[in-house]
Amino acid sequence: MTPNMKQNQVPQVSRTAAGNHTRTLIENLRVLTPDDVSGKTKFVRADLLIAGNRIEDVRVENVQNDRHQHKNNAADIVIDGRGYLAIPGLINVHTHAAMGFFRGLGHGHTNMIENFLFPAEKALTPELLEPLSWSYLITSLRAGVTCIADHYYMIQGVGRALERLGMRGFIGETIADLGGAFPGWESWTKARDAIESWNFSDLVRPVVAPHAADTVSSKMLREAAQFARQNNLTLHMHLSQTTGELKRVREQDGMTPVQKAFACEALWDRTLAVHMVSARESDFAELRTAGATAVICPASQIIYEHLAPLEHIAATGVHWATATDCAASNDGADLLNDCKWMGLLARDRKITNDTFEPHALLASVTSTPARALGMSGQLGVLQAKSLADVVFLRDDISMRPAFDDVRNLIYSAGSSGVEHVMIDGQWRLWRRELCSADEPQLTLAFDQAVQEIMRRTGLKP
Ligand SMILES: [Zn+2]
Repeated sequence: MTPNMKQNQVPQVSRTAAGNHTRTLIENLRVLTPDDVSGKTKFVRADLLIAGNRIEDVRVENVQNDRHQHKNNAADIVIDGRGYLAIPGLINVHTHAAMGFFRGLGHGHTNMIENFLFPAEKALTPELLEPLSWSYLITSLRAGVTCIADHYYMIQGVGRALERLGMRGFIGETIADLGGAFPGWESWTKARDAIESWNFSDLVRPVVAPHAADTVSSKMLREAAQFARQNNLTLHMHLSQTTGELKRVREQDGMTPVQKAFACEALWDRTLAVHMVSARESDFAELRTAGATAVICPASQIIYEHLAPLEHIAATGVHWATATDCAASNDGADLLNDCKWMGLLARDRKITNDTFEPHALLASVTSTPARALGMSGQLGVLQAKSLADVVFLRDDISMRPAFDDVRNLIYSAGSSGVEHVMIDGQWRLWRRELCSADEPQLTLAFDQAVQEIMRRTGLKP
């Protein structure tokens, strides 16, 4: 009998005993694929052929002869995917996964970053970072997120957690010399040394991660940006994230945070400029000219201060991505839910052009972040030769009537339909259960790490 996507048992992974890759065919899906005519994506009836860690082919079902031929000659394992949607693994380009221990504490605090987060972070030690990451990463996986861009201290622990779950990550050690939890020039030299002696699999790659424009000097920002450009790495930083940052940078440097980043040559097509809450329209225009990506985290921004001025995104046409930020400021990691909020908030702000329409919302967590990570065509898209990071959702009644599938996905089905997740050609979630890690064991380790950080800091929940 053909294995199917409703069975309890995880299908065999496509690898022979000799370690050679074989081919897995998942047939009868509805697959989100790029549409050459409209330039947008659309769902089509198709089969996915996966070889090793890549998609070998997306075979659309309208040419029956081709399909039979392809079935006969290609697959070692065939899975019936009837009743499922396949979408690209979602990319969350702003997380602090290890801050899971602050979940729920962002509500009702003022000046939380300076008065609460920085002191608590001073109590962190490397061995706590891996277990503290479990909660946010597992929640992310269940929300269909296969790849994160993480920004934190002692980032090797986050890297180990990602490797254990088989998730993809572009991770950066936070650097700062003027403020933050561990300010000092050595934060940069240590981060640079770690990148130069990087020791993870291809799933976990480094980025350069200045903290923000008010906590990083021009000298450090310029040097870090130059290093990132020379090594073809993404630069991931908070920029204009609060009114306080804008005020401090104006006092220190006589310009806006975005102008400072521009002056330090820190804005180009590999820059993730996160938040832009206190940015003006001319700042967004500056990002647009440089090809940088504005990253908007709607729930986090509302909890911390206020939403970024979406009208400037609509007016300037800047590249923009949606992200969740951390558990302290967005208790969940449900990226599609944040997309829905982006769409609703744009309507609330009377934005009438199509900047935040459903296809654009989906692009903001797939193709747009892939571009900023230097992975265009590799991630955030299902097509021949892309990496096999695929999310399978139930194509159930929440997707009906099927007048507009992408709108249904964002506004109706959301991540509740996520059932199976494949990353790099390997099953990592099957029927919402982890395939390669013991969740009760990881939950226990997370609880123990939280108790330890509370003991060290004396913080009360
Ligand atoms: Zn952040």
